[in-house]
Amino acid sequence: MDNQLLMSEKTIFEKIIDREIPAELVYEDELIVAFKDVNPKAPVHILIIPRKAIPRVAEANEEDQQVLGRILCKAGEIADKAGVKESGFRLVINNGKDGGESVPHLHCHLLGGRPLEWPPG
Ligand code: AMP
Repeated sequence: MDNQLLMSEKTIFEKIIDREIPAELVYEDELIVAFKDVNPKAPVHILIIPRKAIPRVAEANEEDQQVLGRILCKAGEIADKAGVKESGFRLVINNGKDGGESVPHLHCHLLGGRPLEWPPG
């Protein structure tokens, strides 16, 4: 497969945004989409992603400020709907190999529903 083809391939998250594969959506607006993680690491595990295909936070730029702000500003509302606003939750963005990133479409994990350890492994 050549690089051009690889670069034009949709990630699994773009396919979710385009409704080509199913996901349990919990929130969406014109900038972001949130859905349940298929392999949850906590009782509540939601991924909040930009509609725009920003590969990872290290590649975000000035023009992405609004969408990145939206992810944080909506996290409380999404956590509230999921029942963890009062008990607490954690937001995590993995970036690159050592950061544990496995899908090259920026995503913010919202985890809650149990006490989360610190520091993470
Ligand atoms: P990361 O390791 O930070 O890149 O996180 C990727 C996350 O995407 C993992 O927690 C996966 O369980 C999750 N994931 C992968 N495929 C899907 C899918 N089809 N629907 C929902 N979550 C997914």
